Amino acid sequence: MNIEKLYSLYLRAGKVSTDTRNIPIKSLYFALKGANFNGNEFAVQAIASGASFAIVDEKQYEDESNYIYYVEDALTTLQKLAQYHRSQLKIPIIALTGSNGKTTTKELITAVLSQKYNVLATNGNLNNHIGVPLTLLSINSNHEIAVVEIGANHQKEIEFLCEIAQPDFGYITNFGKAHLEGFGGIQGVIKGKSELYTYLKENQKTVFVNTDDSLQVELTKGLDRITFGTNDKTDYQFQVNENKSGNCPEIRYQGTSFQSKLVGNYNASNVAAAIAIGLKFEVPLECIKSGIENYQADNNRSQVINLKDKQIILDAYNANPSSMEAALLNFSKLKGEKTVILGDMFELGEETEKEHKRIADLAIELQFENIFLIGNYFSKIDSNGNENLAKFNSLELAEVYFKNFPIEDKTILIKGSRGMALEKVLEFI
Ligand code: ATP
Ligand code: MG
Repeated sequence: MNIEKLYSLYLRAGKVSTDTRNIPIKSLYFALKGANFNGNEFAVQAIASGASFAIVDEKQYEDESNYIYYVEDALTTLQKLAQYHRSQLKIPIIALTGSNGKTTTKELITAVLSQKYNVLATNGNLNNHIGVPLTLLSINSNHEIAVVEIGANHQKEIEFLCEIAQPDFGYITNFGKAHLEGFGGIQGVIKGKSELYTYLKENQKTVFVNTDDSLQVELTKGLDRITFGTNDKTDYQFQVNENKSGNCPEIRYQGTSFQSKLVGNYNASNVAAAIAIGLKFEVPLECIKSGIENYQADNNRSQVINLKDKQIILDAYNANPSSMEAALLNFSKLKGEKTVILGDMFELGEETEKEHKRIADLAIELQFENIFLIGNYFSKIDSNGNENLAKFNSLELAEVYFKNFPIEDKTILIKGSRGMALEKVLEFI
């Protein structure tokens, strides 16, 4: 099917769908294949559930009389359609990538820009080779600006997604020890994430740079830059006042104070980026302030929960060595008796053992009253007979333990990789 025909189906349907459990009436259904499902098998059902058209990539499911069309590869077709749609749009697109803080920064930027514009932002964490096209295809003629999160766990992925999203502006939150396995170490991470810079440079687009990160300053030399940071050589110079209780620092800009409700020192750069982007897009300062200050995380990221007499910092959405370290250092500043409950970090390849050991050692060094380590990797490390530390192979074993020996400390940090689903701990502490 040529792109014009495909685009006309998309415009007639108005939106795209991929999941028959949730088919919007009037949509263009793409039969994607996953590890455990084959979307082709659901094409008829998609039409019956209200989809206007379906795209399949197995010939036997083709049925044009029933508006089911065959293409060679449904995923590639979805990506091409997204790219074409993007090229028809006249609105600016801001792309975000980085190892940590993409979603948080995206939400903050959206909170700020929404004060003035009709913004389309990535829904949740849909940031991969399927999520980015779906995000782009949900932009309609009412939107004035889009914020697109781009994730990656291997080389060339960001390059590929940039070709589809064609961003006008870009921001890399940071380079950290995430997805080390797929990227091939930290140098590989820097190389992979920098594909966004390469795209912006080659297409004469603009990058936002935090000048307090000297590596980013170095890597963006020669690009059209909008800079922010605490030194006086930036376009937007901020003051950052550390918060003694472990909350996000206060940021000041030209006499206005911005105090985010997020926890964690590490959120300062996320907030600063959102303010800088708001300023660039001429959102009034007071509106930027209310966007930042009213944003409250409700997605297991940097979230504070008061449960019975305990204060819990739930950061169970994901974890990698860099974000673990940032979270532990931040947590150590809080007052009172503290417990940390940490879950395994995945996708670290040959660094797995070393990084789990390093994080456990850091927790010991920071002298938390109790350290609980959960998961296969953590349970294998040598904890040097430390009495405040307990290890569990699985969440189930931890549950049994906590039911018998409830945690008495009032302040608790919970953090682990997504696959550990450590938010379940809330049910039994
Ligand atoms: P994913 O790769 O899963 O999409 P992400 O980059 O979108 O992750 P977030 O979901 O925003 O990141 O944040 C995940 C966690 O990373 C946070 O809960 C926090 O612990 C940590 N984090 C957030 N921002 C930063 C930062 N600027 N530096 C270091 N760690 C951070
Ligand atoms: Mg994310």
